[in-house]
Amino acid sequence: MIILSNQHYQEILTHSFNASPMEACGLLGGIVEGDVKVVKKVYGLTNIDQSPEHFSMDPSEQFAVVKDLRKNGWVLLGNFHSHPASPARPSEEDQRLAFDRKASYLILSLLEKDTPILKSFRIQGGEAVEELVLRQD
Ligand SMILES: [Zn+2]
Repeated sequence: MIILSNQHYQEILTHSFNASPMEACGLLGGIVEGDVKVVKKVYGLTNIDQSPEHFSMDPSEQFAVVKDLRKNGWVLLGNFHSHPASPARPSEEDQRLAFDRKASYLILSLLEKDTPILKSFRIQGGEAVEELVLRQD
């Protein structure tokens, strides 16, 4: 399970709408309590692919995130990216590029503009397994 605040959710939403129709991407920092990840900060990053179907995170921005995580005593919980025109499911490429079994891979679908859908996945043995996303104030 991964827990994020409504404000964090809004930040993912805003970052994704701003990037649309290109995919947006970013990283999630926070703490781990047993099996539960608690998001403390959403880092919106630049998709240097500038593509509606792919993303690559800017390496210098990633480096700045790692420094900020260290400064705050947080860990990298996972990442997020948007699917401007497809469902909130990892694409084959998403699964192929997901190497970290422990990380959460969040996908925000903007397919239905009025009802964005945020889902989280763990990638295990090449298979995407959905995990619970809890939003709270
Ligand atoms: Zn994707």
